[in-house]
Amino acid sequence: MKPGIYIHIPFCKSRCSYCDFATDVLRSEETVARYVNALINEISNFSFQSSNQSRIQDLKSKIDIDTIYFGGGTPSLLSASAVEKILQAIYSKFDVDENAEITLEMNPATVSLEKLNHFRSLGVNRASFGVQTFDDRSLKLLARGHDSNDARKTFELLRQSGFENISFDLIAGLPHQTLADWKLNLSEAMSLAPEHISLYILEIHEATPLAEQIRSRRQPQPDEDLAAEMYEVMFEKLAFNGFEQYEISNFAKPGFRSRHNSKYWLCEPVFGFGVSAHSFDGVDRRYSNERETGKYINRVESGNSTVVEDVSLTKKQVSGDFAFLMLRRSEGLDLPDYKKRFGIDLKTEFREELARLNSLGLIVLSETNLKLTDKGKVYSNEVFSVFV
Ligand code: SF4
Repeated sequence: MKPGIYIHIPFCKSRCSYCDFATDVLRSEETVARYVNALINEISNFSFQSSNQSRIQDLKSKIDIDTIYFGGGTPSLLSASAVEKILQAIYSKFDVDENAEITLEMNPATVSLEKLNHFRSLGVNRASFGVQTFDDRSLKLLARGHDSNDARKTFELLRQSGFENISFDLIAGLPHQTLADWKLNLSEAMSLAPEHISLYILEIHEATPLAEQIRSRRQPQPDEDLAAEMYEVMFEKLAFNGFEQYEISNFAKPGFRSRHNSKYWLCEPVFGFGVSAHSFDGVDRRYSNERETGKYINRVESGNSTVVEDVSLTKKQVSGDFAFLMLRRSEGLDLPDYKKRFGIDLKTEFREELARLNSLGLIVLSETNLKLTDKGKVYSNEVFSVFV
């Protein structure tokens, strides 16, 4: 169980109308340079503290890690030399596995072939590509700042530069989007043949421009039932094209599961660096960084801790999180293992709830395993609410 590292890059070319992530419109190279220095500083000063340090390894030596994930924001806006400096800081502080998975999130129209070649030469071997939709009308509505041709061109560049592990992000349930539109989207995605697809159902966050447009009836309220139908169509289409759904929102060709994201679902340790980054010690401690970029930089520059929330989880929270995260995976929850870890016999403890979920067709319960049915994946919150 080697930990992973998450690096948050909070800059975007413009702000999408549905976005509530910790991200800023890229205004000055000076801010980016200060941010990269702050990140390097935070990484260099990292010291691991946990209630059970031996779970990871003897801290006299460097910690081994085997995944690095640049998320955002739009990490592909960083220059290759900035990525190089961040990676150097990681390599100085941690022992990075020679086969480490190194992912960088990229948005269409933010990279040249030269930059991608440089990323590849630094060891970046996986691209998580923010396609979202191939429908230009929807891209405009979402204020994505690119069109579908940009997505196709950038995908070509990724392949030209040698990326053999590319993941697409797609969003279902957009305003005005019909089932036929969605099927077209999936066909477009399949024709480009990525190795991995992450599917999100559009969520409307209170303080976003899109929420305001819906409140003022300039855009229709997305139809949740239709979004659920799109999700089910996606199961079939991707299975037909050789993808396995290994997690509720994630589909991979054999051998291309995201190793980094799997750490979250397997409750393995991940150390986050940068603004709003979250960390988990793999046992019972979760902590997160300052959410505003300016304040984050100031904290680092003045030698203060970047952590603004630090929680020691109760046993109930740990066992609840574990059940919830394992159930997201296609393998489901191993009941004897769960009993061994937490002393909880789930079938006895939740007898009535499990019988109800079973009668609704949301779960499959065997002697040793609990997992979601396809219907359960669509209505997963109904199942998760029992455990968390
Ligand atoms: S590219 Fe992603 S992070 Fe940036 S504004 Fe759009 S949704 Fe938010």
